[in-house]
Amino acid sequence: MSVQHDPARHVPYSVPERARERFVRSHAARSRPLLPHSRNGWMVLGAVVLAQVVLVVLLLPGQSTAVTGASGSPGSSGQAAVPASASVPSGAVATESLAPTPEPSRDPTIPPASLTGYVWPLAAPIITLPFGPSEWGDFFYQGQRIHDGIDMASNCGDPVFAAHDGTVLATGTTFDDQLGWVESLQPYKDLFNRKHWWSSLPLTVVIDDGDGFRSIYAHEYKITVKVGQTVKAGQVIGYEGATGNATGCHVHFGLFNPNETATFSLDPGIVARDLLPEHEVARVDPMYVLPFRCEIAEMRTIYPDKARACPIVPTAPPTKK
Ligand SMILES: [Zn+2]
Repeated sequence: MSVQHDPARHVPYSVPERARERFVRSHAARSRPLLPHSRNGWMVLGAVVLAQVVLVVLLLPGQSTAVTGASGSPGSSGQAAVPASASVPSGAVATESLAPTPEPSRDPTIPPASLTGYVWPLAAPIITLPFGPSEWGDFFYQGQRIHDGIDMASNCGDPVFAAHDGTVLATGTTFDDQLGWVESLQPYKDLFNRKHWWSSLPLTVVIDDGDGFRSIYAHEYKITVKVGQTVKAGQVIGYEGATGNATGCHVHFGLFNPNETATFSLDPGIVARDLLPEHEVARVDPMYVLPFRCEIAEMRTIYPDKARACPIVPTAPPTKK
């Protein structure tokens, strides 16, 4: 929380663009056109309407309760888009009953400072937005707007590494069951199923780190691991991208203990718009578990003793007038 935001390091984005970066939800979802622009779009819409009519006719004798028990599996979260032709049955894609949250793997009281075995998710990133108080954050903590992870960037398409040994809990755009939301996700899921908004979300990987914590990697353009797969620290899990509402390639890296009792409050505007829960389990600053790097200013701030051993980086000579 003590890490200070340095605007000079926000190289990949301009500040106005940054304002539109969102990890979890996107304004793009709200502005997604409700009616198609093309003839193909109208054909798809027609197919959707026809499918719904057929389904309603089929379901009438047995009541509509059958809808919620339809297709979809907890492991199918890699599917970004809900197929239009299956719009109604796919209402079950993200139902809570199909994707139970696994038990946290170890002692929930383990202090973050004692976590070991972490590596950087990108080989040579710069920090574009640190964890902590930020006007760009979507959450509030003790009255302050907060960014609930670290945004780090290198080059589009660079490999993204698992930060710790662990087991993959979620991949794709249906990851919310693993993110420690406090209240029910059902209204949000119903809305996104109804509006077909899932594809507007960032491709994300959530990993159980096996130490009581979970790590989050958002905005990949491609994911190379599957739910249930075990991974090693440093293993490639995907590639850096800008999926979801991001204006530049980067990784939003988050870390939290699902049994944490403190919470962050989601921006009420996002709650109202996307029907998301009002609270998520509080995150910790991943900077504290990542290996020290001299070139990362936030690291030098956190570890001044280690920073003293860093080579002196010459500052740019003053420009002559
Ligand atoms: Zn972020």
